[in-house]
Amino acid sequence: MAEPTIYELSSAGRVGVRFPEPDVPPAPLPEAFLRQDLPLPELSELDVVRHFTHLSSLNYSIDGGFYPLGSCTMKYNPKVNEEAARLPGFAFTHPLQPSETIQGNLALMYVLQEWLKEISGFAGVSLQPAAGAHGEFVGVLIIRAYHRSRGDVKRTKMLIPDSAHGTNPATSAMSGFEVVNVPTGANGNVDLESLRQVCDDTVAGLMLTNPNTLGLFDQNVLEVVEIVHQAGGLVYGDGANLNALLGVVRPGDLGFDVMHFNLHKTFSTPHGGGGPGSGPVGVARHLVDFLPGPISVIAEEGTEEEAPLYELGMPPQSIGRVKAFYGQFGMLVRAFTYISMHGPDGLRSIAEHAVLNANYLLARLRHTYKVPFDRVCMHEFVMEGHSAAAPEVHALDIAKRLIDYDFHPPTNYFPLIVHEALMIEPTETENKQTLDAFAEALVKIAAEARSDPELLKSAPHHTPVGRLDEVKAAKDLVLCCWIPDQP
Ligand SMILES: *Cc1c(COP(=O)(O)O)cnc(C)c1O
Repeated sequence: MAEPTIYELSSAGRVGVRFPEPDVPPAPLPEAFLRQDLPLPELSELDVVRHFTHLSSLNYSIDGGFYPLGSCTMKYNPKVNEEAARLPGFAFTHPLQPSETIQGNLALMYVLQEWLKEISGFAGVSLQPAAGAHGEFVGVLIIRAYHRSRGDVKRTKMLIPDSAHGTNPATSAMSGFEVVNVPTGANGNVDLESLRQVCDDTVAGLMLTNPNTLGLFDQNVLEVVEIVHQAGGLVYGDGANLNALLGVVRPGDLGFDVMHFNLHKTFSTPHGGGGPGSGPVGVARHLVDFLPGPISVIAEEGTEEEAPLYELGMPPQSIGRVKAFYGQFGMLVRAFTYISMHGPDGLRSIAEHAVLNANYLLARLRHTYKVPFDRVCMHEFVMEGHSAAAPEVHALDIAKRLIDYDFHPPTNYFPLIVHEALMIEPTETENKQTLDAFAEALVKIAAEARSDPELLKSAPHHTPVGRLDEVKAAKDLVLCCWIPDQP
């Protein structure tokens, strides 16, 4: 059923706005600009409020329901983050204010940099990048700058495991590297023999996601890092899955040279339709000088009575500025709030519960759906949305049918190395009742796939719009089903 448009709700003579008495003398309007036949909608204020409030609830949201979108970490965004970000001292700072008037903001950035260093085991952090993909771009530029600074210009290849997120090869290609694929072995880890074969003195680095997009911790990670380092390459860590490691493993300790954080995933700043991302980058000691800036630094050490004096500094061999001003400052406030609310033990318990929730769901579903790399998972797992018992039903149909059960579909058809992939990430913020209800819905859907495949192929049935073109729907928006006839 199509939603009525504001034009269809219009009723002649209804008024929603009252203009104040003009406080300037009336002036005649140019005749040519006046039209009597402009079909403006006529509605009361209440009509308008109800219409838009209703429309706002048509989008699925994390505040509205379970959102197990694998690799995206759609955890609950605590409202205290929003309160902190709205504090006038943060919200109303002008980006061109002199640094002595924004000491609080610089202190927050400095402390957040320090916390991210401690959490990840890196020696330096820049908060500039605006998203994970942007952080990857920055990281790869840092790798390039490092090799160039040593006169090592023959390194033209970036190694990317075949389970990688699409942004990894895209970033490498955009930065001028040749992308070389590294296959995954039978157990879901990087295949070491294949890695050894492609490692030589033309390799600039490897981009590794750990846990990888199968939701598996690469058990050979130390060896992988060692092989790349032996060849003179650097290891980039795609930190999108850091939620599984918080307080347990530090990527810097594993030997990674550079990594991005997705504050909007791990540290609960809103994402998707909810706001901009933030993708700070952490680096090991030998790369600190290449970080993009400005970053917050201490200009004068504090004393017992006085806070330190902060200023914005540019690392000496910086790849430059990659974002206007200081990055997504509002997101930095939210992440700072989230980390300070949890503390070290709280952060560790986030990872433990994210991993526990994923393993609980996996245990409930592995007898109903095929799980190609079936071992203890980290914060997410990947199963197949296709079975011989229901040959015409595909992962997409299962995803669409879940909408009828009021669940957001999982990520589907990614990672590419799993046939008909359904990638499920419950996150730590969901309770057992929700996980049970989701597992039961998927078990029911598997039975429906055998008894009534058409029910799945025509899903969803209860949404304002049904099946959309998967590719065109996001590019060719249809926002209005009725446009008034032009005179
Ligand atoms: C989300 C994600 C990215 C990209 O991060 P954005 O913030 O969306 O740009 C990269 N790699 C992996 C594994 C991801 O899940």
